[in-house]
Amino acid sequence: MAPDGGTLSAASQPVAPHRAGLLGPPAPNTVSRPYRGLSVQETDVPLTTEALTAHLTGREVYRRTDYLVLRNGDDLALVQVRREPSIGLFETVAEAAVLAGPGETVWIDAPGTDVGNATALAQVAAAHRAAGIRAYVVRGLFEHVNFIWDPQPLRIRVGEVVPPEPPKLYAMARQALAFDEELPPIDLQLEAIDIEREVARHPAPAYLLPCRGSGIDLDVPVAFLDTRPARQSDWLLVGCERSAQFHRHFYGDAPPRADICPRRRAPQDGELRLTKCCLLERGIEHRDKTVVVPWGANLGEVLGALRLLAGLTDGAPAPNTEGR
Ligand SMILES: [Zn+2]
Repeated sequence: MAPDGGTLSAASQPVAPHRAGLLGPPAPNTVSRPYRGLSVQETDVPLTTEALTAHLTGREVYRRTDYLVLRNGDDLALVQVRREPSIGLFETVAEAAVLAGPGETVWIDAPGTDVGNATALAQVAAAHRAAGIRAYVVRGLFEHVNFIWDPQPLRIRVGEVVPPEPPKLYAMARQALAFDEELPPIDLQLEAIDIEREVARHPAPAYLLPCRGSGIDLDVPVAFLDTRPARQSDWLLVGCERSAQFHRHFYGDAPPRADICPRRRAPQDGELRLTKCCLLERGIEHRDKTVVVPWGANLGEVLGALRLLAGLTDGAPAPNTEGR
């Protein structure tokens, strides 16, 4: 909602010629960006297409207003407006398109929700999904209001090793999503590569793990490569290629190995996927629908990776498309 409430007022000038059809139906996941482009107004005008179009066309709106939520009692409508550009604070509505009327628009109070964040809006909408609803209007943090149209979050798989729980890359991706204001709504789905399951799948007298990850608790003899333990001839390395390289350096050979590299384990299934690799030391690698970040990626790299997957490239760290 505009800080001033975006009050409508009757225009003093004649109604501008109506050039119909410039406002098309919104794409799925459309939200007002910034949320201030949405103005919420009480009205006693019936919330029909004819009445709202007649009411709004030729009136003035705040020059940042692109959408209006009209409330008449318990009924709601979402309207998009096209303004005639002017140099003033207020501009004349040249075209008003009623996107959704009563029965298609729902109001949701979610006081903890950041309404500038499309993922957060989609999560609230999912919890209130109802047949026939096209526009989910959410009043969230600081009583700010935004809407999301036909939410269809982009599903991104996150390939990562557990433990720790939650796994680091997944936790960072959630953190990056939470403060972003440009990404479409994203539904992160963890694809865990579970070290304990790998151990169970690969019976061996002893195991060598890359490092003492938090929460690893196995009922079998385990050594940790980062402590450079005394060589055992019968251990099985549960690790990445980089760990095998360390092993060769320390002991002169490569042991039998269960590969847990999330990049190498990623299925070729056409899904969007964020994953990581021990061999990537910096930057982001982008191939087809998979983006790989370094094992020790920072939040900026993780956000950059999500932006690449979502088709946004502005502001992202330059991807390393040459690979290794
Ligand atoms: Zn790797």
